Amino acid sequence: MSSCPSPLADDLVLDWWTGDLGAAEARRVERHLLSCGACSARAELLPALAEGVRTLVREGRLPSVLSPTVVERLQRDGRRIREYRVAPGGGVQCTVGPDDDVVLARLSARFGGVTRVDLVRQSGNAPEERYTDLPFDAAATELIFAPPMDMLRAMPASVEIMRLLSVEPQGERLLGEYTFNHSPWPRE
Ligand SMILES: [Zn+2]
Repeated sequence: MSSCPSPLADDLVLDWWTGDLGAAEARRVERHLLSCGACSARAELLPALAEGVRTLVREGRLPSVLSPTVVERLQRDGRRIREYRVAPGGGVQCTVGPDDDVVLARLSARFGGVTRVDLVRQSGNAPEERYTDLPFDAAATELIFAPPMDMLRAMPASVEIMRLLSVEPQGERLLGEYTFNHSPWPRE
């Protein structure tokens, strides 16, 4: 059974859908709802999720972490999804196609006992990029990361390391490290 450390209330989700929330709170609800498997599965029962996902895709506002329910919804809506599943310590050859709507990095990890998850991305000599306090499902076996498509399309051939960290009072614990050997789509 899926579980969430801090579930969203149904009326909050409905307020989000009807546009009754302020921008900052709406963004927080969006991020959580679309990223958390437990909450999005529960919200599947609300018309809000289907409609909300369609709107966010249209406006290019998908958050960086998606729940499996939202990925299924995108597939049902006919979106072209390219996926890379990577185990901790593993690596993959990856690219982005001209017709892809979404590219997903499906990072296997265990989240039992975890209270906060950060994702760190490191590419070449560029400064590392950190996504803090990501929504996650404690019962899930992966985190589904969707990098911004414009950034991905602009990326040269490079090696990118992603690390999932559990942030704990005693410090950080590595949940997994994943290597993406990226090649741009060949030009004709
Ligand atoms: Zn949740």
